[in-house]
Amino acid sequence: MKNNNFNLIGHRKVIDYFKVLRKHNRLAHAYMFTGKKGIGKRKAAKYIAMMLNCGEDNPPCLNCPDCRQIISGAHPDLIDISSDKFIKIDEIRMIEKRVFLKNRGLAYKVVIIDNADMLTPEAGNAFLKTLEEPPKDTLFFLITSKPENMLGTIKSRAQKLWFSLSLPEARECLDNLSGGGIDRELVLKISESDLSRASELVSGKLPAIRKRVIESLSVFAKQRGKLKESVFILLTFLRDCLLLKTNNEALVINSDFREKIYRYQKKFTLESIEDKITSLMVLYPALDNININLANNFLANILE
Ligand SMILES: [Zn+2]
Repeated sequence: MKNNNFNLIGHRKVIDYFKVLRKHNRLAHAYMFTGKKGIGKRKAAKYIAMMLNCGEDNPPCLNCPDCRQIISGAHPDLIDISSDKFIKIDEIRMIEKRVFLKNRGLAYKVVIIDNADMLTPEAGNAFLKTLEEPPKDTLFFLITSKPENMLGTIKSRAQKLWFSLSLPEARECLDNLSGGGIDRELVLKISESDLSRASELVSGKLPAIRKRVIESLSVFAKQRGKLKESVFILLTFLRDCLLLKTNNEALVINSDFREKIYRYQKKFTLESIEDKITSLMVLYPALDNININLANNFLANILE
């Protein structure tokens, strides 16, 4: 499934499912794609949009004008909304207007709403009306990694499809992100196979608290989310220490802190750094539930 700028990894079962649905004319109006962030749910939605609309043999060809315009997001029959912020009622009104216009070439108009859990309650209720009386030949793909945050009434009107990647597929995604030279197993473990976290890890694009955590090498935080973030960053730092110790400097992520990494790894044996990583990796998933003070105490002990 490759062309120059479109490479969908995995999700074959979902794709085949849509093939069958179309063949038997059983397409529903709305689907909810759930699964971890960064594994290609939106890309799969675009792929399906092309597959249902491309006129070539063995669709999608990824190369005809329709396919190209869907890939670039420029097709007039594709409405593709993605936002990290709240999706407001104005955007839903814009969708409403556009879905009732005559199709400009595609058999199915496609509406992709990424982070659909970010609809404001007002927007959600307005959108519900569209879903209750959906326009003909229009498909809604609602994408979310947090289905629990979506309005129950919207969820009940969409067919749910669960997305996941096998380990080899996740590795392939990571290779695409990094060009290969990383310890994929460790990155996948640290990021709990969340590929958007993994890509942050691989590219070194971690948030601003990275500087604070690495400079102080302490992760005290009262807020659970912050604590997790800090531990995550610390894991990247310890991983870098291991890499330096084993003469793999080229793979270091936090290369802007080379001095710090160098000094820290000098103080500890390979085994003791590995022990710290193991302890943090055991603690990391537990941070969702564990008492926050207790967690901070554990962390202080691990870092000593
Ligand atoms: Zn095509």
